[in-house]
Amino acid sequence: MNNSKVIVVGAGPVGLITALGLARSGIEVTVLEREPAVVSSPRAMVYHSGVISGIEKLGLLDDALESGFTAGDLDFLVHSTGERISLNISALEGLVPHPYNLHLGQDRLAGIALEHLWRLPGADVRFGTAVTALTQDADGATVTAESGGTPVEFRAGWVVGADGAGSAVRRQLGLELEGMTWPERFVATNIRFDYGRHGFASANMVIDPQYGAIVARITGDGLWRCTFCEDASLPEETVAERIAAYFAETLPGDKDYELVQFSPYRMHQRAAATFRVGRVLLAGDAAHVTNPTGGLGLTSGLFDAFVLSEAMAAVVHGQIGDEVLDRYAEERRRVFLEAASPQASAFKQLVYNSADPAVLEQALTGLRAAAADVDLQRKQMTVSQPLETPSLVARA
Ligand SMILES: Cc1cc2nc3c(=O)[nH]c(=O)nc-3n(C[C@H](O)[C@H](O)[C@H](O)COP(=O)(O)OP(=O)(O)OC[C@H]3O[C@@H](n4cnc5c(N)ncnc54)[C@H](O)[C@@H]3O)c2cc1C
Repeated sequence: MNNSKVIVVGAGPVGLITALGLARSGIEVTVLEREPAVVSSPRAMVYHSGVISGIEKLGLLDDALESGFTAGDLDFLVHSTGERISLNISALEGLVPHPYNLHLGQDRLAGIALEHLWRLPGADVRFGTAVTALTQDADGATVTAESGGTPVEFRAGWVVGADGAGSAVRRQLGLELEGMTWPERFVATNIRFDYGRHGFASANMVIDPQYGAIVARITGDGLWRCTFCEDASLPEETVAERIAAYFAETLPGDKDYELVQFSPYRMHQRAAATFRVGRVLLAGDAAHVTNPTGGLGLTSGLFDAFVLSEAMAAVVHGQIGDEVLDRYAEERRRVFLEAASPQASAFKQLVYNSADPAVLEQALTGLRAAAADVDLQRKQMTVSQPLETPSLVARA
């Protein structure tokens, strides 16, 4: 039995970055991924300045900057009146190491982490390997997976479940994702349309109870994300028709756009009852899911990955007792429930559910004040700060 080995389930960004953190600390790590390659569906693409130091620490920042781009401009656009309130993260200049957000498709971030992981000794990634069962005992855990129709078994001292919202690992632990599901369906689209020419910032929250959307630039060559929402009772098969109707109504100018990719999603505010059961830890969407307004989902998952990989490496190397993993589980769950989830819900309510004029006016008054006052703007632009957990090893 090799107690020093770790299995990470899921080669999403959280799994790969956790595996990279472990492998860089000299831990033997195997990543098991159900799909044949990194999943490329349109999801996260904006990372708050707070996670960039962690990306840098893992040696990924140069490649991430080369593949994506940095931006700091965020506009709140009131669809009904055309009012635009502009904030800029450059207000944080001199106060944080990276006073910008990183725009980069999460499949690219995962791809970069994978390239770095392949180069490290002791790191193994098995695509097309779907985990189906998990058992554990005093010495370690046994993971059963299916690969090419054949059952395969893996054994390790520790397992990290980073297999997303439908996590097989979490189900094997008998844990539910507790919380609520929103009545709306989100529709994420990647389109080629020159929003920038029409005055849009790199990131925009378009506020409207009917046409609310997040609009953000994905690449420097004209690819943008527009995520709007619709009643989840509408048939999913006809979502493409409603995408056309949405853009006919909302795009400025000649409306000449190309739809590159789209995907409908149900949205939740949910967390597992615990993020640790014995030798198995949960991270990222396997542990907690939020609606994506404000870009706090993967941001939370990356903060999990940074702190978990460091703590687990210290445990495996015998530098610290495994109680540190209980602290990971408690602290990351608390942070999600007390900071990430309420903040993401507030953003969603503002963007998509702003039907009450008095509530909207109150929110806009706060944003106008922030646009005019650098201290208030700094506060507004550090929403991800409470999501971070400082090193648990350094504090031990
Ligand atoms: C429209 C949209 C926009 C978003 N935008 C942002 C944003 O801008 N910023 C932000 O921070 N967050 C955003 N999010 C949230 C973000 O996408 C998620 O938080 C992120 O994907 C979580 O990463 P993960 O690695 O935990 O899980 P995932 O990305 O879901 O990866 C899980 C991996 O596990 C694999 N897997 C699943 N089951 C098994 C199994 N049984 N065996 C082996 N492998 C398995 C899957 O194939 C997948 O590769 C957005 C979400 C959506 C839907």
